[in-house]
Amino acid sequence: MANEKELLDEIESTKKRLRDEIKEKEKEADERLDEILSKRKMQFCPRCGRKISSRMDWAGKCLHDGCEELICSQCWSAEEKRYCKKHDKDYRKREEATQDDIKNLTLNYMEFAEYRLKKFRLDWNHEGFIKKAKISRQKKKYGEFEMVVYEKKFLSRKPKVRILVRPLTEAFQEEINSALENVDGKNEIYTNLVFIGGSASIGQKALRLANEFSNKKVSLFVMDMESGKLNFNAREALADKYSCWLDPTKMPVTFANLLKQVSESVAGKKIVYAKKFGEQFGKTEGEAADILRKSGMLEEAKGTNSFILKE
Ligand SMILES: [Zn+2]
Ligand SMILES: [Zn+2]
Repeated sequence: MANEKELLDEIESTKKRLRDEIKEKEKEADERLDEILSKRKMQFCPRCGRKISSRMDWAGKCLHDGCEELICSQCWSAEEKRYCKKHDKDYRKREEATQDDIKNLTLNYMEFAEYRLKKFRLDWNHEGFIKKAKISRQKKKYGEFEMVVYEKKFLSRKPKVRILVRPLTEAFQEEINSALENVDGKNEIYTNLVFIGGSASIGQKALRLANEFSNKKVSLFVMDMESGKLNFNAREALADKYSCWLDPTKMPVTFANLLKQVSESVAGKKIVYAKKFGEQFGKTEGEAADILRKSGMLEEAKGTNSFILKE
């Protein structure tokens, strides 16, 4: 049986070996750089054209596979500039192609969102049923697309729900911040913010955010148009309820549908219990009873917090 000292020695020697290996690798990379330098007598950075006077001013090799052009330390410090002039063009083309893909996917989704909202008529928000719901496309431009559900009044209209569709780019955090602006206590509008991307372009950071996002008046969705998966925080009752409007594979649910889904048949009548409705909608029993009362679609069984669905 190995004693403790032997074990510790072994760990120490393993550590030392690893350290030596890393040093060796670094030395090899350095030597490789020197070899390229001596062979090619490089004096100018192939990226920015700067004259290089010292070996220390070279930071690395062009990231394109097999390219041996060196990149100066100034260029290297900006990650997108770690390519020589020639390969930078390829890199940019690839980036542009990705941006074009995302744009096309987003345009497709915008069309889908408008068609669906208008055809099936979204008629509820976090405060309940929207009487005389009117659906309108507020902004149609790529990157600004906005659909709004209004409640029509005699002389005015009140915005109740908005659906924002955005391409998923690096700037998604700023888009979220701007959606969160003006979401104060008095504002009655509920916001659904949908980011569009393809499987390759949706990063872990955006996915994590979508799966953890929590706000009383804003839901966040990340739609993968390639796999067809809509990502969101399913623990949030309203995000979960709205998802059927935003997921092309699901059937949208109107307020009347919501009532039917939670109702129970009792003695030939359909009964909606405020408690059960509240659980589905992320509301307390009292708030839920209020929503059900105001909808005008049910008859209240006085003093019971249960409601009879009008046939
Ligand atoms: Zn340079
Ligand atoms: Zn290159």
